[in-house]
Amino acid sequence: MLFERQSFLVAGISRSGIASAQYLRAKGATVYLYDDVEDENVQKAVRSLEEIGCNAVKKEELENKAAFADVLVLSPGIPVDHPLPVAFRRAGKRILGETELAALAIRCPLIAVTGTNGKTTTVTMAEGILKEAGKNAIACGNVGRPMTDCLSELGEDGVAVAEISSFQLETLTSLRPHVAVVLNITEDHLNRHYTFENYVYLKSRILRNCTESEFAVLNYDDPTVRAFAEKTKAAVVWFSLNERVDGGYCADGYFCYKGEKVCPEEALPVDGDHNRMNALAAVCAAKLFGISNEAIERGLKKFRGVKHRIRKVGELCGVTFIDDSKATNVDSTVKAIASVRGESVLLVGGKDKGYAYEPLFDEIAKSGVVHTVIYGENALRILNAALKRGYTNVTLVRPFDLAVRIAFLTAKAGQNVLLSPASASFDAFKSYEERGDRFIQLFQTLTEEYGPAPAAGEAPQEERDAEDE
Ligand code: ADP
Repeated sequence: MLFERQSFLVAGISRSGIASAQYLRAKGATVYLYDDVEDENVQKAVRSLEEIGCNAVKKEELENKAAFADVLVLSPGIPVDHPLPVAFRRAGKRILGETELAALAIRCPLIAVTGTNGKTTTVTMAEGILKEAGKNAIACGNVGRPMTDCLSELGEDGVAVAEISSFQLETLTSLRPHVAVVLNITEDHLNRHYTFENYVYLKSRILRNCTESEFAVLNYDDPTVRAFAEKTKAAVVWFSLNERVDGGYCADGYFCYKGEKVCPEEALPVDGDHNRMNALAAVCAAKLFGISNEAIERGLKKFRGVKHRIRKVGELCGVTFIDDSKATNVDSTVKAIASVRGESVLLVGGKDKGYAYEPLFDEIAKSGVVHTVIYGENALRILNAALKRGYTNVTLVRPFDLAVRIAFLTAKAGQNVLLSPASASFDAFKSYEERGDRFIQLFQTLTEEYGPAPAAGEAPQEERDAEDE
């Protein structure tokens, strides 16, 4: 791509937009910046990008700039049917995302992980394992650090371990992972992608450039993912919790790979079948990079979970608070209630994403959830689903803070208060991180009111684009 001769309009000035603008300026391109939102964070970012020679575009100038910019660099947060990309498409111009810029330039091997749930967990596990083996592995993409930021650090010898969301896949054409992992596909983001078929199609794009010399690590237990094997040229490596597949599986208390015991399952310090699946996917990816069983075991042992993903916050009056704010769709909440031990009062609700909540109540009925507190913008839709399933153990209360308080007062000693919302956070928060942090803060407030203060919470984790909930 000839950067010096082209002008790029970077739309969406968040983490990936900032990285794209910096990357393109470093290549000598002419860069324009635009964001629909003009809050303090955006303005601050725009000012610092102007210092390196980018040009901010106002809404009223946009039509004009769109007419002469050659390429649109679209943030994953902006849907492809926004008027701006539509105008570029009509003009026959190129649209790409930050990940595509990285895909065009990357010189080292890449592990790309997609799926509805478990991406961050799997990427973090795989990065940890590869680092244990002495590799210069960097977790990047949707997990936090934009890929373009990591390219020089990775060089030719590193291994990029990239989390790739369906939003990124919309504008990604050149990615060719050495190992492409597809974890699972269940209903999510239908408000953005419209149909499940379209969502599945977008996920399948992770494999589109893979040839016989690349590997597709696929979930054998998920029929939608299993069907990808028929469409890809890549060599398929399966992982499964139910069968001894040609790839990764569990047997006799061990994580196994192609007939060989890799390490005891107890090396993995986090609970839940979903985490065993994530670990199997990470083990397959590691084995395809020739990593030793010892390094895999050490890497898994050091995995401490990721913040806002089924994390214990603390205990108050015998009630354990668990933060699973990142559970932003039904399947992730189903996995949470299946893996959290004991009885729980569940907190669900938030911003609707257009899917059905009935399956959640089918699972709740079979689980240790003794009561459900429904809150947020979609509370009535969720309540409706509960009632349709004959589930009446519910309290409906719209504000989040009050919902948490009621969940605590409802829970008995020995039970959990589990925040696992099955919804995005954008009705009341900037991101799922902010929602999880608020939950931790409320735990502390309740602790001041109701009991002695044990240590709780932890340092806030690095910010990331809030585009994929
Ligand atoms: P992602 O990055 O794909 O959003 P995370 O690793 O951040 O996934 O996990 C988000 C939530 O999804 C977790 O808190 C847990 O509730 C659930 N989860 C994690 N792994 C899986 C999995 N393999 N299958 C289903 N749900 C999962």
